[in-house]
Amino acid sequence: MRNAVPVSLPASDRPRSPGTPGGAAGQRLRAIDTLLADRGQLFQALFLSAPIAKALVDLDGHVLVANPRMCALTGRTPESLSGRHVDLLAHPDDPPVGDLGLEPAPGEPALDPNLLYDGERRLRRSDGSELWVVQSHEVVRQNNGTPQFVVLSLVDVTDRRRAEEDAVRRAYTDPLTGLPNRRALTDRLRHAVALSRRRGLHVGLVHLNIDRFQAVNDALGHEAGDLLLSQFADRLRWSTRVEDTAVRLGADEFLVVAEDVEDLDGLRALADRLLSVLDEPFVVSDREITLSASVGLTLGADMTPDDLLRQAQSALTKAKADGSRARIEVYEGALTHSEVDALQLETDLRHALDHDELRLFYQPIVHLADETLLGYEALIRWQHPTRGLLPPGAFLDAAENNRLTSKLGAWVLRRACLDAATWTEDLRVHVNISARHLAEEGFAELVAAALEESGLQPQRLELEITESTALFAAEATLHAVGVVTEAGVTLALDDFGTGYSAITALHRLPIHTVKIDRSFVADVVTEPSTAALVHGLLQLGRGMGLQVIAEGIEDLDQADWLLRHGCAMAQGFAFGRPAPLPNPAEVLIGEVTQAPVEDVAGELLPEPAAPPAVPRPRIPPTPEAHDLQDTGPLASRTLFDDLADDD
Ligand code: C2E
Ligand code: MG
Ligand code: MG
Repeated sequence: MRNAVPVSLPASDRPRSPGTPGGAAGQRLRAIDTLLADRGQLFQALFLSAPIAKALVDLDGHVLVANPRMCALTGRTPESLSGRHVDLLAHPDDPPVGDLGLEPAPGEPALDPNLLYDGERRLRRSDGSELWVVQSHEVVRQNNGTPQFVVLSLVDVTDRRRAEEDAVRRAYTDPLTGLPNRRALTDRLRHAVALSRRRGLHVGLVHLNIDRFQAVNDALGHEAGDLLLSQFADRLRWSTRVEDTAVRLGADEFLVVAEDVEDLDGLRALADRLLSVLDEPFVVSDREITLSASVGLTLGADMTPDDLLRQAQSALTKAKADGSRARIEVYEGALTHSEVDALQLETDLRHALDHDELRLFYQPIVHLADETLLGYEALIRWQHPTRGLLPPGAFLDAAENNRLTSKLGAWVLRRACLDAATWTEDLRVHVNISARHLAEEGFAELVAAALEESGLQPQRLELEITESTALFAAEATLHAVGVVTEAGVTLALDDFGTGYSAITALHRLPIHTVKIDRSFVADVVTEPSTAALVHGLLQLGRGMGLQVIAEGIEDLDQADWLLRHGCAMAQGFAFGRPAPLPNPAEVLIGEVTQAPVEDVAGELLPEPAAPPAVPRPRIPPTPEAHDLQDTGPLASRTLFDDLADDD
């Protein structure tokens, strides 16, 4: 007999020693022996040598004998199969067959449900691999018709099954990028909508279209275009969360389905992260290519997948209207008006950065005793194409809410250093730094790069941070600040006194200057309690060996009071409003420019590189504090000048 298979007849689901004659197992043993003895040849031909995996199983599912093919198919030895319940072969990820509610056919005995199952099912080999079989069963009865055993047959259909799965996968996958395709989308979307609705959340769609992709194809050829698309798809895949699905809809159109989006902010953050895949240029055929994408966003819960898709498409169409690029549009119905405004602002701000719409205005910082110009604070403005000149308060928050902060901060830093390098060497430049930017990796390197590019001495740069930045600075921030100050750059604590822990803040960081907030300066003359506070702040600053600048000085009384109380430096409308630099072409490094520049009112103003030593301030002609139209060319446009003009 080939491959003799030991026969053991267990009575439970654990391998056991052959039963003792007389018990139930003993009876089964005798029956098998009889079968082997009486029908040895037949058994050999039909069972043991059969090319199909077969097992003789008792009625409650325990294997009595398995043929060699069954052992080979399941990767198990005869010993490890005999006596075990057939359940052993089931795939653990599939629901137990017992849960399927299978009933024996009329006239069939009550068998273990694993034996009743006829059809295709998944099993697991001993090495853990997956196995697909078509299972069938045959009941063997005694002469009197009593069911005795079941012959279980398994036909291996794994290859066929794999081929089918491959075909399905191919049908639902984009061959170029390996991402799911449009056909796969509806299913995923339906699933995402159902799941998110159950959790009380939304499904978000980010519909991206690469800008001017046709031009890339035309210029570099379709092969390069294909490479670019698959690189883009890879980056997209890496930047999605596990619960999101990136889909390629067609040529240069992609869609990300995000489950469980809480609100629009969450969706925006996602879109932002996705867009950051475009920050780095792509390299194709040894050429660097920078891409941008237009984006349509929508958010929904109780909605059909088709409606959601239509909304995302309509937002994208709007983003691409008039040949626009790199715009993000949100489907309007998904948002309130203020949300639309905020989002539009972000989009426009991105555009502003790329299209040179940002400006730096400079406000003089002077020595209070004699108004000698000491330097300028750089203050950002946005020359908005339709809304005119915008103050920082109108757009900095929009930048804070997304990754524009660092882009904007880097722009300011670089611009300010380049500008300051054109001034006379005794003038310093103050640059405001947002807490978020300061905490970002690479901040110290950014400062070093701005200094190097401009050639500005580090000692001429002062970074202004707010109290809360200093207080809640993370280790990374402290480190960055350490590196920067080590190089000679100084640090100012802006809006000093407005936080709750000004003094604590001073201990956290190597502060060089404190700037007393203009809200204190405003009532220092009229409010005794404010006067007491400012007096205290001045003493504190001096006591700690810090420089003190009073901000927002608008009139002579304030200037006098501060001077009398020991404040050495000042900034405010009384000494000059924030104003743009004159045309850089007219400013020569280290030289005094001869050509004075005309301001809005047509007055001739002095050049920043040659600031006049101005006398003590006198009361100005009441400038409107937030009037942005006042901005003449950069100058120590002083009170003295105003009065001189009047004379
Ligand atoms: P800040 O750093 O405290 O800047 C001083 C602000 O006070 C400026 O407002 C300036 O125009 C205003 N100011 C100066 N003198 C007077 C005065 O005599 N009276 C009155 N009423 N106001 C005066 P601005 O330019 O609107 O800037 C507001 C804030 O925006 C700045 O406050 C700063 O925190 C932030 N900021 C400005 N530029 C930048 C920037 O480039 N980066 C960052 N991160 N923040 C900036
Ligand atoms: Mg400041
Ligand atoms: Mg301030």
